[in-house]
Amino acid sequence: MIAVSGSGIAGLAAALAILRNQKPVLFVAGSMPATTLHGGVQIAPNGWAALDQLGLGEAARARATNLQAITVRDMRSAATLANLDLSSSPYASLSRADLASILQAEISASNGITHIAANITHVVQRGPDQGKAVHMLTDDGSRHIVDALIAADGVSGFGRHYVNGTDSGTTTTPNHGRVAMRAVAKSADLPRMFSQPFCNLWLGKGAHFVHYPLHGGKDVNMVLTLDAAKAGDGWQQRYLGRNDILGQLCDHANIKWVKTALPAHPYHDCWRRGRTVLAGDAAHPIPPNLAQGAGQSLVDAASLLRWMAHENLDSALSGYARERSKAVGMIFKKAAVSSKIMALDGTGATARSTIISLGGAPMLNAWLAEVWAAA
Ligand SMILES: Cc1cc2nc3c(=O)[nH]c(=O)nc-3n(C[C@H](O)[C@H](O)[C@H](O)COP(=O)(O)OP(=O)(O)OC[C@H]3O[C@@H](n4cnc5c(N)ncnc54)[C@H](O)[C@@H]3O)c2cc1C
Repeated sequence: MIAVSGSGIAGLAAALAILRNQKPVLFVAGSMPATTLHGGVQIAPNGWAALDQLGLGEAARARATNLQAITVRDMRSAATLANLDLSSSPYASLSRADLASILQAEISASNGITHIAANITHVVQRGPDQGKAVHMLTDDGSRHIVDALIAADGVSGFGRHYVNGTDSGTTTTPNHGRVAMRAVAKSADLPRMFSQPFCNLWLGKGAHFVHYPLHGGKDVNMVLTLDAAKAGDGWQQRYLGRNDILGQLCDHANIKWVKTALPAHPYHDCWRRGRTVLAGDAAHPIPPNLAQGAGQSLVDAASLLRWMAHENLDSALSGYARERSKAVGMIFKKAAVSSKIMALDGTGATARSTIISLGGAPMLNAWLAEVWAAA
């Protein structure tokens, strides 16, 4: 039996990958924070390829909203800096709740899953002389013995600390001190351009704002990223209020903003300790600036799907960890650089907008194509 911890996108997808290999799963998942399934995600071509490999492409496409372009604009002047046409690429938004329910439905339709509503607190691994097993303790006081553990329990869960020993920050930590103000609004409450099938990225001074439609344009997902120190009273006027279109969002009665601290954790390329491997944010707390975290969790699961077909469990786990840690390292670096570029303020922000308007779609494409091609 293989244990999977965490009931976010990564845990659900990993559990499905194991079940698809006809192996029983012990699914260890305590209560989920309310924000886990809040809002939407953009899924890029690599995420769609993974959904197809997991056999979920059709169900996901039925609930997705195709996004035909990524449009980059200047937050103050509203000028379009670049427009990347995506009409021939699989690029679409999904609400997190829809993605989770598609995964849950497939898991429920599979045989061989046992749920435990608890969190892992301790793990001890026995060596070959004792039959190679992972002994787990959970916070409901119970003990479980499994052949392996896929720890997909997020950036603050048990797995990341267990595999990497420590999670102390480094000077290269991206997004440190940044927060996201997130909201999902009815498109009927917003200016019409918000329901158009585009991902809009507005670049401001020290902040950026992303919005795209969900549910075929009925809802709109919005995220403004800024310094935590500037997210107090008046942030809406300060960042959105200077633009005629975005100013209409300020103090809107029907928009409820939720503040989320952004990951400030370094990347470690060690994904395995014995028979415990990481998946999802536990392995790769990617800054959200490239919209890749959930997509990479799906790619993790597609990789597990292939590797867990191997007869030898140790080779399968090490093959998965090796393959994924290498591919994600490049994506993490690019996301960290993107987060710094998007956070630029003052003359740095002005120079950035000039460079993007000169580079246009070819520059955006060159930056993203390598990320979307990585599997
Ligand atoms: C503002 C923002 C926008 C984003 N936009 C995008 C986007 O457009 N596209 C994209 O691909 N990604 C995006 N992401 C990233 C994406 O949301 C995450 O990468 C993804 O949700 C991570 O899923 P996860 O399952 O790894 O972690 P989580 O969702 O954090 O789930 C971890 C689960 O593990 C559980 N857990 C914790 N400790 C334990 C334990 N000891 N035992 C058992 N269970 C435990 C938790 O309760 C939780 O339910 C965005 C992120 C943010 C913050």
